[in-house]
Amino acid sequence: MTETVGFIGLGIMGRGMARNLLKAGYDLRVWNRTASRMDPLAAEGARPTRDPADLAAQCDLILICVSDTPDVEAVIAGDDPRGVLHGVRPGALVIDMSTISPHATRAFGARLAEKGAYLLDAPVSGGSEGAAHGTLSIMVGGAAEQVERARPVLQALGKTITHVGGLGDGQMVKLVNQILVVGHALAMSEALLFAQAGGLDLRKTLDAVLPGAAGSWMLANRGPQILDRDWRPGFTIDLQQKDVRLVLGAADQLGVPMLATGLVFQLYRTLQAAGLGAEGNHALIKALERLAGIEIQAAVAGGPGQGG
Ligand code: NAP
Repeated sequence: MTETVGFIGLGIMGRGMARNLLKAGYDLRVWNRTASRMDPLAAEGARPTRDPADLAAQCDLILICVSDTPDVEAVIAGDDPRGVLHGVRPGALVIDMSTISPHATRAFGARLAEKGAYLLDAPVSGGSEGAAHGTLSIMVGGAAEQVERARPVLQALGKTITHVGGLGDGQMVKLVNQILVVGHALAMSEALLFAQAGGLDLRKTLDAVLPGAAGSWMLANRGPQILDRDWRPGFTIDLQQKDVRLVLGAADQLGVPMLATGLVFQLYRTLQAAGLGAEGNHALIKALERLAGIEIQAAVAGGPGQGG
């Protein structure tokens, strides 16, 4: 544990991940655009920094987890004197854990290489729960020796660390992951509406299907939230839509038809148009509820949290 570690981006995901690095004993530097979000981490022993350049100047390993491609650009920021590029030391390793464009990732790698620094793309899956509990699945792209260098830090954040290929391939695998995520969300929504229309006990229905061939992370974690009509986000519709847009853009370049993913994109768009972009991605079911004229009411199944 001789390398100094910094973490940029303390949102839903980043704050849990940063906390796990502190728990693992790292002497951690942090930076977040909204400075007050650094306070809880500072109270637990992290050292706040002035800006990404200041953080980079103090660190051997620089982890980033911000929203979208332009935000990673803003943090690395070649033409902003506060960006990582203006503080990064030769030999430093930047690990981008955001979900962003594979193409832009390769361009960021080239700019860091001009400073003698390295980049890995290491997007994650496992939700806010996985970030908090250190059980993320991490899909890593980049040079093998840098992946080995990063492994101890990544092991503090996730259970499964898979080196999937060269720089940008981590993001490509993450897009594969997102095709599966939104497909599961659509299947879950349709199945629960069917169960509701059939007058079934929804909680017993979930208990019955979860351990079988139809079980999924989505159903286990977000199914109960739907029954409670609890739309708090583990992952917001706006960020989910960002990922689906990345999938559809890449698929367009590859010439692959994306039937279910394209449908989910349009359904989420109706929810964004209704002002629901900050709700959790499981609120996809609201789009189907509107089409079907049915609403999930867990009270029918004898549970709490009906209505809303
Ligand atoms: P979030 O809660 O919205 O947090 C976003 C973070 O990015 C905040 O710290 C925000 O700073 C920072 N940020 C955004 N734009 C920035 C900019 N231009 N400059 C500097 N900082 C900026 O999002 P999240 O759910 O943690 O997601 C973060 C990344 O992880 C995304 O790429 C997402 O797709 C990916 N991811 C999320 C999940 C999930 O379940 N939530 C799962 C897997 C992967 P402020 O505090 O100042 O707003």
